[in-house]
Parts: sequence; C-alpha cells; structure tokens
Amino acid sequence: MSLPEQQAPVARVVHFDIFTLFPPMFSGPFAESIIRRAQERKLISISLHNIRDYTTDRHHVCDDLPYGGGGGMVMKPAPIFRAVETVLTRPVGWTLPLEDAYVNLPAWDEQAPAALPADTPIILLTPQGRQLNQTIVAELSAYPRLALLCGRYEGIDERVHTQLATDEISIGDYVLSGGELAAMVIVDAVTRLLPGALGYELGAAQDSHSPGLGGLLEGPQYTRPHLFRGEETPAVLLSGHHAQVKRWRHEQALLRTLLHRPDLLRHLPLSAADQTFLQQHGWLADIHYDPVSKQPGQL
Ligand code: SAH
Repeated sequence: MSLPEQQAPVARVVHFDIFTLFPPMFSGPFAESIIRRAQERKLISISLHNIRDYTTDRHHVCDDLPYGGGGGMVMKPAPIFRAVETVLTRPVGWTLPLEDAYVNLPAWDEQAPAALPADTPIILLTPQGRQLNQTIVAELSAYPRLALLCGRYEGIDERVHTQLATDEISIGDYVLSGGELAAMVIVDAVTRLLPGALGYELGAAQDSHSPGLGGLLEGPQYTRPHLFRGEETPAVLLSGHHAQVKRWRHEQALLRTLLHRPDLLRHLPLSAADQTFLQQHGWLADIHYDPVSKQPGQL
C-alpha cells in the first residue's frame, strides 16, 4: 500500500540561475562541502550565466557612464534583461552554448517584456534591499527556481529595479564590490535548509535563528576532550540525562541571546517561564512578546 499523499516525503529541489559578470568567482565555494554534495545528490542545481555573453556590440560593453555625471560606471540594462529573459523563458538548466555567446544569441525583443514564470523570484542583490535573515532564507527555500542578479561597479540601471527584479535583498548594512558574494550567501543558506543537505536529521532546525530553537541563538557546544586548558565541559552534558540536557540547552540559548542579541528577545514568542528566567538573569526590558496581538507589548 502506498503512503497517503500528505505523508510522502517531500523532495524539495531548488535550481539557482545566477547572472554575473564574474562566473569564475563561484567555482571555489560551490565545489566544496555541503553545496558540492547537495549538487551531487541533486537537491540543488546551479547555472551560472555570464551577462557579458548577452552583449552584441564589438567590445561587449556591460557598463556606461551615469547620466547626470558623477564617478564610476553603471551596468547597462539591455544585457541584463536579455540574459534573464532568455534564460527564464527556457527549461531549468538551460545555459547559452559557449560558442553562441555574442554571435548567435536567441532572438529577443528589446522593446517588449518577455512573459516570465510567475513562480521564479528574480532577486536583485543590492545594499538597498530587504535585509536577509533566516525567515527570508526559509521563504526562498520553498521555490523550485530562483534567479539571482549580481550587480557590479556603482550599481545597476534603475530599469532593472523597476521592471525586471521581483525582489531586492541585501546581506547587511555594508557595501560589497559586487553581488557575487551575496548570491553565494543565499545559495549556501538556502541549501542547508533542504531536507537531506546536512549529514544529520533536523540539523538546520536546531541552529541559531531557526524554528527548533524558537529563534534564539544556540548555546555553547563542547566535544572531546572533556577538559581543555583548564576548562571543563559542563557536567550536565556528560550526565546522560536527556531532559536535563534539553533544559540546560534551552536556558543557555536564552542566556546567550540575552548576552549577545537582546534585541531578538523582543520579537520572540517567549513563555512566561522563559520571561521569568530571563528577568532573574538581568533582563531589564519592559517589552515582551504578546501572544495575542503577536506584537511586542508592555509587561
Ligand atoms: N551604489 C550602490 C552600491 C553599489 S555596490 C548603492 O549605493 O546602493 C555594487 C554591487 O554590489 C551592487 O550592485 C550589489 O549587487 C552588490 N552589493 C553591494 N553591497 C551589497 C549588500 N550589502 N548586499 C547585497 N549586494 C550588495
């Protein structure tokens, strides 16, 4: 008898189309460890698309001077639109044959937008986007296909923001030289959420910022030896008493979060017991999470 549909294991597979001027940047990070294994196990697949391949002028120019003057260069819209519209209107895994770059591009209408698949977010990496966090990573991991656009130079022509990108993501309040490292961050964080990507079950759910820890930071971890440079592993971890270990870990996660990221506590669904525990350890915030309104409220 086959399992009812809702009990069948859900194979989540994500394909990434990455649009960049520097495809070789990705070779190291994607060829090692979890991302390499996830590709071998067919949990993810990655296609790198060189935006420059989609230029038709003699010098394959992808940038130009900014209108209105000012320093630096701006990425031209046409090669980006052409690359993204060509790739996303073709089956998953399609890449432009090397010998066709520049000279034998598929027909493309510069004036009219292509009908792009509605279920593929086109994510522009930009320091102006919504800031990446574990909730956004989980949201992205549910899509079968993600397009990541990497900017360079002083940025990208505004029409890419207004007419092509469906989402804009920043990996933090600092400025990188290009979107490539940010795209790698997204690929890495999404991949480790896919069932089977980590070598152990439930691994990702028990990480900091993740549902298994209720959004808290993970507490301290120890491995052998028991005693290292005079510092012992806490006895409870060696006790074999699962309930006590669990409780200790939860308390440590609360303390860790209080110490390093008290701002997170304001938005977490803390139980009354957790709030009391935190207050006993110096939590002074007069703001707590109200489970009814799901908003921070006054204690
Ligand atoms: N002039 C732009 C920054 C350009 S940085 C501005 O002030 O907004 C060049 C490229 O690096 C950007 O187009 C973007 O793709 C990438 N980038 C820089 N910082 C980033 C960040 N924090 N997150 C994601 N991408 C970033």
